[in-house]
Amino acid sequence: MSSQQTIKRIAIFGSTGSIGTQALEVIAENPSLFSAEVLTAHNNDELLIEQALKFNPNIVVIGDDKKYAAVKDALASTDIKVFAGEKALEEVASMDCYDLMLAAIVGYAGLRPTLKAIENGKAIALANKETLVVAGDIIMRKAVENRVPIIPVDSEHSAIFQCLIGETRNKIEKVILTASGGPFIGRKPNYLVNVKREHALQHPNWSMGAKITIDSATLMNKGLEMIEAKWLFNLKPEQVQVVIHPQSIIHSMVQFEDGSVKAQMGLPDMKLPIQYALTFPQRIKNDFPRMDFKKITTLSFEEPDVKTFRNLALAEEALNKAGNLPCIMNAANEIAVFAFLRNRINFLDMTDLIEKTMKFNFRHLFFPDINRTSFINLL
Ligand code: NAD
Ligand code: MG
Repeated sequence: MSSQQTIKRIAIFGSTGSIGTQALEVIAENPSLFSAEVLTAHNNDELLIEQALKFNPNIVVIGDDKKYAAVKDALASTDIKVFAGEKALEEVASMDCYDLMLAAIVGYAGLRPTLKAIENGKAIALANKETLVVAGDIIMRKAVENRVPIIPVDSEHSAIFQCLIGETRNKIEKVILTASGGPFIGRKPNYLVNVKREHALQHPNWSMGAKITIDSATLMNKGLEMIEAKWLFNLKPEQVQVVIHPQSIIHSMVQFEDGSVKAQMGLPDMKLPIQYALTFPQRIKNDFPRMDFKKITTLSFEEPDVKTFRNLALAEEALNKAGNLPCIMNAANEIAVFAFLRNRINFLDMTDLIEKTMKFNFRHLFFPDINRTSFINLL
């Protein structure tokens, strides 16, 4: 980027999370390119205050109203505006004080602020995949209407996005999403039934927030990503394939009409796709660790075991049947993961809960082609 480049004002929704904190590292490393204008947290007031004092944003939002006084007091000697509550997230997303929203809230809670930012004409760096799973058609349609770019942060989708640069006229045969397989790759149900929360929270390659780490262990994460890919790249369900790649070096691939396959590679480090989403269409120099091909002796690939990790099969079903089924599946999954993280249900119960919810709703509340804008207002 040139030295005359104006500073890009970033609003990080979910600044205290895994993606949010890594994004702030990228911003801190590039003060001439970015400023953190908006920071939001759900209930981690201490970290939000610490971030605010370091980055001096225009606005902070604390989701939990009860923490408002603590944040306001701690920032009393600054000019930082403090807001609280769920509605404030949407109000701030509708303001003009920023250029790009990094959507890094976890789960369904990220949908409404992201929608407001799109309606407000702001560019979106999208980490929150649940937003597209729940309302991909609305989000992509509104993005086109408002001429808003949706730049993926999820490493697989960032990889596909990068593979597609310069290929606008060329047809995609399929995309191949790579999955590490999570900590329980090769395990069977008799093992999984006894898996404890602490064990499931240990991911072999990536350090992430609790919800996505559990989703990675159940392979639901890859299912959510299939639906995310469909919307981002306008694909048919049969054009989205998953392959297990335990080394997490190839972040995903695109196969074109002529059979040629492009892959994007790198060490598993989310700072790279985060930085790319913030600097797109440029790349900027950094000192992140580099790959050493002499040390990478194996890149292996295998079929996912969808009989054991049935969440992936359920997500494929939701992808195929479409309508409101992905939204229903996502809601059931958020509840299931929440319950597992509180030791209320076991690892395999999560799949049973999602499957039962999908079956029930498919029979009674399935809308294959509804007016989703009005549907979302009901949620
Ligand atoms: P996290 O749990 O570490 O952080 C979530 C952030 O959202 C926090 O700042 C939290 O305060 C905020 N938040 C949580 N619930 C909220 C609510 N109800 N209302 C408002 N704010 C709320 O999560 P994460 O791992 O950073 O993931 C964030 C999103 O990015 C997820 O959708 C995840 O799937 C996606 N993602 C994460 C990674 C990763 O490496 N962590 C990789 C790819 C995609
Ligand atoms: Mg991913």
